[in-house]
Amino acid sequence: MRSRCKLCRGRLTDRSQDQNCSCGWVLDANCAHNHRHWCPDDGRDNWVGAVEL
Ligand SMILES: [Zn+2]
Ligand SMILES: [Zn+2]
Repeated sequence: MRSRCKLCRGRLTDRSQDQNCSCGWVLDANCAHNHRHWCPDDGRDNWVGAVEL
């Protein structure tokens, strides 16, 4: 089963790069790092404001 990075929609060809976040998102390593700032499953609900760019 091939997965895609949910943030940039890049294909995850190298499984060692996959980051399966606890919120259900599958991300590559770089996007997982970015995603962490506003992950809805981070135990806080202050992520809504962080979505604004
Ligand atoms: Zn990505
Ligand atoms: Zn997450």
